[in-house]
Amino acid sequence: MKIILATSNKGKIKEIQNSFKNKDIAPYSDFIESFEIEENGKTFQENAILKANAIFDAIDNKRNIVVLSDDSGISLPIFGNAPGIFSARYAGEKATAKDNLLKLINDLKKRGIKKTPAFYTACIALVSQAGIFTVHGWMSGYVIDEVRGDNGFGYDPMFVPLGYDETLGELDDNIKKELSHRSKALKRAKIILANMV
Ligand code: IMP
Repeated sequence: MKIILATSNKGKIKEIQNSFKNKDIAPYSDFIESFEIEENGKTFQENAILKANAIFDAIDNKRNIVVLSDDSGISLPIFGNAPGIFSARYAGEKATAKDNLLKLINDLKKRGIKKTPAFYTACIALVSQAGIFTVHGWMSGYVIDEVRGDNGFGYDPMFVPLGYDETLGELDDNIKKELSHRSKALKRAKIILANMV
């Protein structure tokens, strides 16, 4: 069974491939031309399903493949759980990961907030001829009003996981692997995958 990743996000691809060391797994752009998928769902789950379905539909030979998508983001209770599903476009439609990170830091600074609770959510959707399945994972901690370290991706340089003093930008990748929203969702996805074909 081949696992096809419905994402072009290099940070996600790296983390998901690392978690499936001995599996046949590759990003969808290895098989078909990349294309834009409109993420107009209202939840992580709706967007994860949208992405996995779009790639599954676009692939000709659907036998023995499972498309895996990840829709994820960071939420700050103090901001009504924003940016949430809008994490990838928080600073605008064409925003880079750095733009989004700096906008969130700037939003904290404007309110004089040095640190505040935050959590990451990941929804993973699996789509194959067997059907559509979704699982979630979460990671709690807090965000700070500065960039520290350059490991991970996205908002990691401002996110400190529960039980640590360093940001995910400063902590080793293996620590993120143990704690992350994505790892937790992937663990659940693996149980489904093992029973899929
Ligand atoms: P998506 O591609 O629409 O799911 O957007 C996910 C966005 O959420 C990313 O572009 C990041 O901004 C943020 N995000 C999700 N997971 C992580 C993570 O593990 N670390 C840092 N940022 C993340």
